[in-house]
Amino acid sequence: MQQIFDPVRHKNVKARVKEAIKSEFNHCCAYCGSKSKRLTLDHVLAESKGGVDSWLNLVPACAKCNRSKGSKNLTDWYTASLPCYSKERLQRILNRYSMNSGVFPPNRSQGFTSLV
Ligand SMILES: [Zn+2]
Repeated sequence: MQQIFDPVRHKNVKARVKEAIKSEFNHCCAYCGSKSKRLTLDHVLAESKGGVDSWLNLVPACAKCNRSKGSKNLTDWYTASLPCYSKERLQRILNRYSMNSGVFPPNRSQGFTSLV
């Protein structure tokens, strides 16, 4: 197996991972469920807050949700008072994220402060 680092190849891998995450969610926003052609990938837990650098920490988000969430903690922002809130969607995101550590629910030190 070739072990030479190829930046172009590396880029392609990243693009493929992005595609895989989006298709995992049927090209819908993980937060509001709307289908969007312009999905961005959002860090469930910002790396600045200790979020892991893993595809499990990334979910597709529409521009609206991405803007609205900003750098807030997921569970501070994604609450029942949000018009697009869905308990099932939140659970899915958290279940997925917890596969990083095998710990569920993610604890306070991981930035999840008000789990439902
Ligand atoms: Zn959205």
